[in-house]
Amino acid sequence: MVKDFMEKYDAIVIGGGIFGLTSAYHIKRENPEHKVLLLEERGAAGQGNTAKSAGCFRAFFHSKTNLKMANSSIEFYKHIQEVERFNLGIRWIGYLWLFDEEQFHSLEPYLKDMEPLRIEYRIVSNEEIKEKINPNMKASESGISGLRDIEIGLLVKKAGKMDVEKLVEYYESKFKSIGGKVAYGIKVNRIIVEAEEKLGLPGEPYFWQKTKATGVEVEGKIIEAEKIVVAAGVWADRLLHPLGIDTYQRAKKRQVFVVKAEGELEKLLYTRGFNAEGCLPFTILPQPRIYIKPDIDERNFWIGYADDFLRPIAIEDDPQPEENFYRYGIHPILSTYMPQFEQAKLVNSWAGQYGINTYDGQPVVFQEGGIIVATADSGSGIMKGDAIGRIVAAIYNGRREVELFGGEIFNVEDIGIEKRKVEREKFII
Ligand SMILES: Cc1cc2nc3c(=O)[nH]c(=O)nc-3n(C[C@H](O)[C@H](O)[C@H](O)COP(=O)(O)OP(=O)(O)OC[C@H]3O[C@@H](n4cnc5c(N)ncnc54)[C@H](O)[C@@H]3O)c2cc1C
Repeated sequence: MVKDFMEKYDAIVIGGGIFGLTSAYHIKRENPEHKVLLLEERGAAGQGNTAKSAGCFRAFFHSKTNLKMANSSIEFYKHIQEVERFNLGIRWIGYLWLFDEEQFHSLEPYLKDMEPLRIEYRIVSNEEIKEKINPNMKASESGISGLRDIEIGLLVKKAGKMDVEKLVEYYESKFKSIGGKVAYGIKVNRIIVEAEEKLGLPGEPYFWQKTKATGVEVEGKIIEAEKIVVAAGVWADRLLHPLGIDTYQRAKKRQVFVVKAEGELEKLLYTRGFNAEGCLPFTILPQPRIYIKPDIDERNFWIGYADDFLRPIAIEDDPQPEENFYRYGIHPILSTYMPQFEQAKLVNSWAGQYGINTYDGQPVVFQEGGIIVATADSGSGIMKGDAIGRIVAAIYNGRREVELFGGEIFNVEDIGIEKRKVEREKFII
């Protein structure tokens, strides 16, 4: 009931996904005396696109900003699991990219650029791939245009998967334990922006007046706050566009299909020699870049593909998976590269959305008119979630720099608008 939350707050965070939870937690942690309220439209935290995620992570990016955000977040998640002893279900299964020679050579200059970053990876030879995974190495001869031969692999060690529900539970419980308030089932209809000095003019504020966000409207009532954080994922557009604020993201549907690891697939699931878990790494095919995530807990594979051309840009409230997308899109390609999937039994599927920054593929965090915006997850918001929360808290506290977990210093303006300084990512899935 909204009446239970009718007081004035220092900060209201809109959205209880990973960006909202980490933002609320780090703001409250840094400002224990501040009143912080998290508002979430759904009945619980993490039910938006956070719940749709494959929960995979990698400390392997070409762009320095991406790498810093992912690396520090992964280090923090490791700390949560190993030092705080809160089980996030992390499994270090690694990421295995498969390429043909031409693709690999085109990436070599970027790998060279990355040398000073000392990222751990190893090259996997044609023979090793053949021996351990036994895929069809000659997919280009299949008659399906565009497929490439598997000739070389790149295995990233500091990478794996985690239980996203547990991650949500961690931040929610930590936020509450230090006095943060959460309100679920409450939708923010609009953000209130007022003139700092009201003159009683009809229709004010006018463009020449100094303005400020002063609260949010829910169920016809106004909840006041000094600062508003918008972490509403792809739906942030609906709150910010009416105020003339761009979110720098475009929503696109992304789907996950789950197949049972039976027969030949069971053997593939327990592929040895790539990680200590004794399973196939998270594997990315050469072209199209279909990904395969092993789920040894449930004995499944999760399959996905981030299609771009012909996939509409559109915000959806309840996106649905398309069986034909799997049957006629993914499956023929997947089973050409990996014949083990020929008879795979589809047991589950779902769809969510990425909020894609279509220019440089990285999150956008900035402040305008007392509103802090954290958007454009670009499909990798789980693995960068902790860093985003710390960056939002730094902006909230008026700082330009933030120390990420592990001690790395990050200039918050690097992922803002005015002084944005990011490199385009070369390792995109
Ligand atoms: C299929 C799929 C696979 C993915 N796999 C991975 C992966 O392996 N690794 C990875 O790092 N990332 C992955 N992602 C991306 C990841 O899920 C997102 O980056 C992340 O969840 C974004 O978090 P968010 O908090 O910005 O958005 P969300 O989780 O969508 O949270 C936004 C919240 O705001 C709430 N909200 C919206 N409007 C309002 C309003 N007006 N009032 C109140 N509440 C509101 C929504 O209900 C929602 O809960 C994947 C995404 C998809 C779709």
